[in-house]
Amino acid sequence: MDGACAFCGEQKPLMDSHVLPAFVFRWLRNRSGTGHIRSTENPNRRVQDGLKFRWLCGDCEGRFCRYETAFAAKAFHPWHSGEYRIAYEEWLLKFCVSVSWRILKYTRGRNKSAPYSNEQKSLMAAAEARWRAFLNDEAPHPAQFEQHLLISDIVESTTISDLPTNFNRFMTGAVTFDIVGSEESVMTFAKLGRFMIFGMIQKGTDRWEGTKIHVKGGMLKPGKVVVPAGLLGLFKEKAENAAAAVSNISSAQRAKINKHVIDNIDCFSESDQFSAIMADASMFGNRAVLWKDET
Ligand SMILES: [Zn+2]
Repeated sequence: MDGACAFCGEQKPLMDSHVLPAFVFRWLRNRSGTGHIRSTENPNRRVQDGLKFRWLCGDCEGRFCRYETAFAAKAFHPWHSGEYRIAYEEWLLKFCVSVSWRILKYTRGRNKSAPYSNEQKSLMAAAEARWRAFLNDEAPHPAQFEQHLLISDIVESTTISDLPTNFNRFMTGAVTFDIVGSEESVMTFAKLGRFMIFGMIQKGTDRWEGTKIHVKGGMLKPGKVVVPAGLLGLFKEKAENAAAAVSNISSAQRAKINKHVIDNIDCFSESDQFSAIMADASMFGNRAVLWKDET
């Protein structure tokens, strides 16, 4: 079926396009150890793939797909299997911008009650145009609309007292996206497992150090970074939302999931998610990870 492509604007046959790259959902499905992922909007329903709909033509999908393939093969999968020094080239910034562009394009205008100022609204339009120009090789860099990448690790212990009990599972495993900000800042936020991509629209006065993705290349490695303290509040809120969605799973569904885990215990214990669950259990106690139906 023909329609106007959201990226190039041409009338062409449109593909089933993802907001977040499909490889992330394949990874999530394998990582869960049970072979299935659940939508947080309706946790009783299994979702085999991420949110997708017809909005890009085949040419634009193909362009985005090249960046996704490079990112998946050279950064995402190596890092998740324990390789923590990764040299990157031009593909990383292109990939981050393509993700931020899709989130901005999809989310903008969908939340009618979001209290954006007129300045923020015009910056969103400017960011969308600049990111599109950069992806089309018509602009050499994203200008002020920088991309920042934060890679999370398992929190073994913390002095922060009120973290949600699923915090490690959320930080290492969750896949989600949003537009976030405050009265003086706006950015797109994509969480692809341990990789968190922030697309700056209005940077605000907060300091970001060691997280900016460069045009030509650089090195991803563990090290000291400075990010706004407000991000912790964002991660906590998102983790709490994920936990609340899980607690909405019916007891019949829980029994099925628990049986599936027990039947597949070897597969499950080797999965990356198992170590995050163990980290949550040692931080918060076993009650945090067992599903117990209160009677
Ligand atoms: Zn197109």
